[in-house]
Amino acid sequence: MSKPRLEGKVAIITGAASGIGEAAARLFAANGAVVVIADIQDKLGLQVAASIGGPDKCCYRRCDVTDEEQVEATVAYALATYGRLDIMYSNAGVLGLLAGTLDFSKEDFERVMAVNVRGTALAVKHAARAMLARGVRGSIVCTASVAGRQGGHAFPVYTMSKHAVVGLVRAAAADLGQHGIRVNSVSPFMVATGMSTGMHGSTADTVEEFSAALANLKGGGVLKAAHVAEAAMFLASEESAFISGHDLVVDGGASVVYPSIMPALASLSK
Ligand code: NAD
Repeated sequence: MSKPRLEGKVAIITGAASGIGEAAARLFAANGAVVVIADIQDKLGLQVAASIGGPDKCCYRRCDVTDEEQVEATVAYALATYGRLDIMYSNAGVLGLLAGTLDFSKEDFERVMAVNVRGTALAVKHAARAMLARGVRGSIVCTASVAGRQGGHAFPVYTMSKHAVVGLVRAAAADLGQHGIRVNSVSPFMVATGMSTGMHGSTADTVEEFSAALANLKGGGVLKAAHVAEAAMFLASEESAFISGHDLVVDGGASVVYPSIMPALASLSK
């Protein structure tokens, strides 16, 4: 029997109380990792952790990623409790308001940047410091988005924030490679989660219909959080041992064939 892909690894996953992060927490744990769920949804985070296993397998830790002290404390908790940190999956993110370049608000801009950009940068920083201090050649994975690679795949503020995440990944990979620490990202297309449903009055079903219709790849079902979690696990595991600074798009080819999805997205509300 082959060895579990993340056996002996300790991982922190931010934003893992729901959606893509939750799918990743379940997948990483099923593949042998000990997982610290770091989120601000306490009730949900505790429930997800308990359903995965006891504290030797998975635990919940409240961590608002916009607050450096909380991010640092979460990393310190993983080190104190499990002795090391091998994987940081910085996944927490928010969509922000559905506003264009002409009408976005400064408050929304600052909130989205605080979570998506500052939160990711702090997670990368404190994970890398912990790995370096213990001589761990770890793996850092971030959730960006197809909107982090081109315009026309989301609203401007979110698009800017995810471009920053891709830039952060490249800069950190360049900086940390000398220490054997890898930094990569996954860039999903639209997945039915708490974040994407409710947009333009959409439901999980209409989001999935929309996502499946735009995916160039047919016959493979619809993009699910579990597909994104699989891509993140590949980047977290030794299977990607020589991959760093890479952004792995998980979109069924949608971004290859659609330069902009915004006109189609607007039709969701009609
Ligand atoms: P989600 O809303 O289900 O999950 C986001 C999680 O982040 C939630 O559990 C939330 O509580 C947590 N979070 C929010 N602010 C936080 C903070 N300040 N500190 C800690 N945790 C915080 O949505 P999701 O779709 O699973 O989103 C996960 C990631 O995937 C995000 O970065 C998102 O931008 C990205 N993404 C999602 C889609 C999509 O279509 N769903 C597409 C591309 C990228």
